[in-house]
Amino acid sequence: MTTTNQQQFERAQHAIPGGVNSPVRAFGSVGGTPRFFVSGTGPYLTDVEGREYVDLVASWGPALLGHAHPEVVRAVQDAAARGLSFGASTPGETELAELVEARVSAGGRHPIGKLRLVSTGTEATMTAIRLARGFTGRDLLVKFAGHYHGHSDSLLAEAGSGLATLSLPGSAGVPAAVAAQTLVLPYNDVAAVRAAFAEHGDRIAAIITEAAAANMGVVAPDPGFNRTIGSIAREHGALLILDEVLTGFRVGEAGWWGLEASGAVPGGEDWEPDLFAFGKVIGGGMPLAALGGRADVMDRLAPLGPVYQAGTLSGNPLAVAAGIATLRAADAGVYERVTSVANELSAAVSDALSAEGVEHVVQRAGTLFSFAFAAEPPRDYTAVKRQEAFRYPPFFHAMLSAGVNLPPSVFEAWFVTAAHDSDAVGRMVEALPAAAKAAAAA
Ligand code: PMP
Repeated sequence: MTTTNQQQFERAQHAIPGGVNSPVRAFGSVGGTPRFFVSGTGPYLTDVEGREYVDLVASWGPALLGHAHPEVVRAVQDAAARGLSFGASTPGETELAELVEARVSAGGRHPIGKLRLVSTGTEATMTAIRLARGFTGRDLLVKFAGHYHGHSDSLLAEAGSGLATLSLPGSAGVPAAVAAQTLVLPYNDVAAVRAAFAEHGDRIAAIITEAAAANMGVVAPDPGFNRTIGSIAREHGALLILDEVLTGFRVGEAGWWGLEASGAVPGGEDWEPDLFAFGKVIGGGMPLAALGGRADVMDRLAPLGPVYQAGTLSGNPLAVAAGIATLRAADAGVYERVTSVANELSAAVSDALSAEGVEHVVQRAGTLFSFAFAAEPPRDYTAVKRQEAFRYPPFFHAMLSAGVNLPPSVFEAWFVTAAHDSDAVGRMVEALPAAAKAAAAA
């Protein structure tokens, strides 16, 4: 039976709130009909109408190798044939933990002493916060405006991603008493962090920060920002939780921290966070995420310690198999390819916008990039929101009509994969002049 995206969307809206299982998929800020995809291969997705798109969403990050990478698919099929879930330990879980512990190293540092597997990035950050609170015996949490760390109660205040897209300051249903435990500060503002610690330092359990912000569009940390806030936290007996759910294993083999610690990104040498959260690429497209870091902190988790966390499907054998296969395949060549595609595409988009006189800046953090319709590169959420965001929907729809699937919001990063070959890049570049014209006319 042939159906159209429109028919699918109408049917979905009867069965599912808003027709989607994650809000940003609903095209809330760009309007129009979301595409319903039936398959993906390499850099391409195919929708229910049989149309093919060059994909720049990559499942919001996980598909670093491209869709349906043969080695990852084979690993999952082999694992599935042995049983879907046992609710007991499997050798693969230790193998994946060891792989991550070995891989996240730079400048002679190995900051992941222990790692626990969970199923989503939300669980990883939620558990990291509980652990920081349990370890320090304190309640307050510092987060930055425009950062998104998943949808647990403490973390939705002034969050990026779908909340930025839908212009929501937070979520209904979060008890005021819980929200009051989160201090929201402007990003890249060391003075604000110092002031918060001067006032509440003995009550703050942790700072949580995206390793490089990419849920309000891309906003890289100022050089040395992560290291500086880490040392402020330490002076006051608080922990630093580095959220690498999006950046981890995507911007480089050892994530954003690895870029800093190795000196590839200046100003961040010679430091390490207390805890990391990972997600997305670590599961290669399957539901898998993790938190890890200092062994003395991680060992406060049950069963060794008093901080409870658990999961029926934690360390699921299919997800673990996908994660191991993905990390094994993600070698230096993959990051070189992703970097060169990111360079080429971001330059092509920028050239096309300039040709139409559209004011914009390219926002970059490693292999991640996005565009802001502004004169100056925004460094925080207030500046991000000041841009001419109305230029994005027509740009997005021109690209979509030409067969390019971009993130349906200006407040999201673009994700390239190692499978984006010259054909895929060429198709996208061809679509740019018309899209830039549409942005200019907005
Ligand atoms: N942290 C960051 C930095 C993220 O980008 C995301 C998801 N986009 C999350 C946490 C939450 O991960 P998940 O959607 O898997 O719960």
